[in-house]
Amino acid sequence: MDCKPVVVVSRCLTGENSRYDGEIINNEFVKRMGSIFHFIPFCPEIEAHMGVPRNPIILVRKRNGNMVAREKFTGIDKTETLIKVSKDFLESLKEVHGFLLKSKSPSCGWKDTKIYDSYGTQISSKGKGLFSRQIRKYFPYVPIVSDSVLNLSYLRMRFVLKVFSFYWVEKQTIKMRSKEDIAHFEKEYAHVLKNFGIEQLSFGFCSENVPFDLMLEELRLLLLKAVSHTIDKKRLLELYNIFSAIFNVDLKLAVTGIKC
Ligand code: SF4
Repeated sequence: MDCKPVVVVSRCLTGENSRYDGEIINNEFVKRMGSIFHFIPFCPEIEAHMGVPRNPIILVRKRNGNMVAREKFTGIDKTETLIKVSKDFLESLKEVHGFLLKSKSPSCGWKDTKIYDSYGTQISSKGKGLFSRQIRKYFPYVPIVSDSVLNLSYLRMRFVLKVFSFYWVEKQTIKMRSKEDIAHFEKEYAHVLKNFGIEQLSFGFCSENVPFDLMLEELRLLLLKAVSHTIDKKRLLELYNIFSAIFNVDLKLAVTGIKC
């Protein structure tokens, strides 16, 4: 593979010493995925100069509903700093096709982070960490996965497929310069589009009066939405074969260690 999809990964999942307690994580999947992804490791808490080891932080939902991050033992509020480093980092990304996040973290957790009330008592609902909350604001369709589901091979395969689908859409649309290019794309990749439930591209947005840039952005969004939907196992395997051929890499072998 000449070029690889860009995936932001929680730094601690790459085996680097960035956790609050200094624990090193060895994630075999992340190691293996280095062959098909270009990883950008990021740790919001290290970026915020919180050091290793450090006081752990917790997510607190205030009475007015606002979510804040506080040091567990001192109560020091780290919200503003963590949001700033997260935004700075996300704004600095030139391109990104996926996020692989550490579960349960008050910064990186994806829907499974414990939340506390102002008195430090855990409440029943769980939520997203401060960094993860920012991601969706900047990248509404980009695939995101938590390391907690990576032991399930179907979910692992689904994430990799979504990242490659996202990458494919971005690579294809960026080189389109005319309506003819769109028509050519539709013809050449009809078999791929069909697997994402698109029988025919709506040429409603190809009317004479619509500027090409606008038309292209509509097409891009339509495709990104289509590839972000969950697909069934049969089509997933079909698309693995298709994208393996397009990108000249055996994706199934890379993900599962099993040859197609
Ligand atoms: S979960 Fe996120 S904030 Fe915590 S150590 Fe890992 S990368 Fe850093």
